[in-house]
Amino acid sequence: MRNIAQLAFYELYPGERSTRELKVKFSRAFKSYNANVKYTRDWMEFKLSYEWKSVSDEIKIGLIQSLMLKVFRDLPRPERTINMDLYDHFVKGIGEYRPATRVDPVLDECFERVNKKYFGGFMEKPNLVWGLESFFKLGTYTYASNTITISKVLEDDELLLDYVMYHEMLHKKHKYYTNKAGQSRHHTAAFRKDEDAFEDPDVEEKLSRYLRRKRWSAKAPERERSRKKKVKSLFDWFFG
Ligand SMILES: [Zn+2]
Repeated sequence: MRNIAQLAFYELYPGERSTRELKVKFSRAFKSYNANVKYTRDWMEFKLSYEWKSVSDEIKIGLIQSLMLKVFRDLPRPERTINMDLYDHFVKGIGEYRPATRVDPVLDECFERVNKKYFGGFMEKPNLVWGLESFFKLGTYTYASNTITISKVLEDDELLLDYVMYHEMLHKKHKYYTNKAGQSRHHTAAFRKDEDAFEDPDVEEKLSRYLRRKRWSAKAPERERSRKKKVKSLFDWFFG
């Protein structure tokens, strides 16, 4: 019997044959609804977080197909499948029904400020957590767990904190758009237009200055080196 990765492949690329062994594994090491793909010449393994186990096969196949699109660049670009649409729909929806259970008090204050100023106080509160002290990823919104994560590096600047929070809240508001080729666009024109409404037009400039200064004082180069050693795996799926 074919496993779901094989089913995903043959539905996405009818008439093609996979030269690699296609495997699926469920892992408890991932956070909510995360997934990735690793491969060599001989095999390709799709690793899905444990929560995916209870999700229907159609949606899992859609997830695997979305990952395949990023990997099989040498094959002719396929048509989007219904499973991929189901998957997209699922990902955008899962976070909505999850009440916030992790809310950091400092980020909470920040969220309330921004919510009041730009969203009329109407945005429902997601989980709000600090991430690592990263200079690269200042903030992320994870659809699946409904979580905004902010880099610790912004901790001592309220304006910049509000700015990055605003950006991530816009991801929650706008979600994302997937075109026929399966590419997802997170920063659409509508998104950018909203983003321009931020109170301080010089905020980008201030942000880069702030980060430059921080880098000087922090041991940033060491951290950057250690990041680069990471295993080659495709992911960053729910992030924008
Ligand atoms: Zn973004």
